[in-house]
Amino acid sequence: MRRPPLEIADLMQFMDSAVCNFLAVDTIKRRLVDAGFTQLDPTAPWTLERSRSYFITKNDSAIFAWVVGDGDPATGVKIISSHSDSPGFRIKPNAEMISEGGVVRLNTEVYGGPILYTWFDRPLSLAGRVMLRGEDALHPITEIVKFDEPLLTIPHLAIHFNRQVNEGNPLSRQRDMIPVIALHSSPSDSRYLLTDLLSTELNVNPDDILDYDLALYDATPSVLIGVDSEMITSGRLDDLSMVHASMTALLDSQQGEMTRVMAVFDNEETGSGTKQGAASPVLYNLLRRINLAMGGDEESFLRSIDSSFMISADNAHGLHPNYPDKHDPTNHPVLGSGPVIKINANCKYMTDAQSAAVFRSICEQAGVPCQTFVNHSDSAGGSTLGNILTSQIDLKGVDMGAAMWAMHSCRETASTRDHSYIIKAFTQFYNL
Ligand code: ZN
Repeated sequence: MRRPPLEIADLMQFMDSAVCNFLAVDTIKRRLVDAGFTQLDPTAPWTLERSRSYFITKNDSAIFAWVVGDGDPATGVKIISSHSDSPGFRIKPNAEMISEGGVVRLNTEVYGGPILYTWFDRPLSLAGRVMLRGEDALHPITEIVKFDEPLLTIPHLAIHFNRQVNEGNPLSRQRDMIPVIALHSSPSDSRYLLTDLLSTELNVNPDDILDYDLALYDATPSVLIGVDSEMITSGRLDDLSMVHASMTALLDSQQGEMTRVMAVFDNEETGSGTKQGAASPVLYNLLRRINLAMGGDEESFLRSIDSSFMISADNAHGLHPNYPDKHDPTNHPVLGSGPVIKINANCKYMTDAQSAAVFRSICEQAGVPCQTFVNHSDSAGGSTLGNILTSQIDLKGVDMGAAMWAMHSCRETASTRDHSYIIKAFTQFYNL
């Protein structure tokens, strides 16, 4: 096997660390701090210096980083947006379900739209955040947690109990999708199993654990496949590969007139309707605040919006060789042939001819090929961040992503070459 290019080895490391929204933000935060970015307190007043780099987090699950441009605040900003969350399973409160013989399962709730049966019979683990008793009721303490070792599995029913399983098998989210975490003999210790696990892992008193946001994740690391290691298979490539590409480009790009922003929202998979999601005013408020803290005013801010441009980066469906009929006859991107501009006549994507032209020029300058995706006209397709953001702020921008297979599967597949192309295109955008 060939050794992967540096940026692909880095992507794999990132994917294995960013196993859910909270861990993605935590991983990005560490990278930014290492690169000299300063974390700002949203509750304190800000003064921003030219050429300096800053970031804020929101709810520990969204993160916004920027490098202040040398120009006038009205010059505008260059933004790349993406999302930290992926479809999967969240652990419900009072999660322990104890069955005969002391088998312990954890009750779950489906988050977003995962392909359910891809989650069976895999080594799974837990990650997220735990809230601990703080100094006062309004300020509980947040601890980020990731169990590195595999802890659970969702065992499938044996074929002998359902001979028709391969002819289509409808699944119940409440009956079929509950993971097993232990084979305990005593039901009395099992009732607090999760709290005990968390308190041991975090080295805290179980009584101080007030609540948690925990998700299941696929404990098998990302791997390269293909005769030339030209594909990556991993959980959460949608949309963490775009998060990684925008972070890499922000760190690699050079100082210029315009402020460079990386925006990583949460909850895209459930419609973006939270304070840390793209349907909230979080980006609008941040851009306004950056402008004011650079010495701008209301008019300067409004002028800056008209001079700004956003790349809304979220992955796209690559032509599936088993199902070519599912794709548009002339606009079906293939894996390995470059970033994909996403277009929809009913404006589910923010792309228009003008913003597509901008992105094509960026790719051309970066020496990167570029493809287009349009839905097969008989299928509805998905939506993403771009059009949701424009309901909050009237930015120009393009929706794009990497072509991939099996979107929303427990493991998705994409091309490593596309990832390198996209980092180049993003770096070129920030360098404009
Ligand atoms: Zn996505």
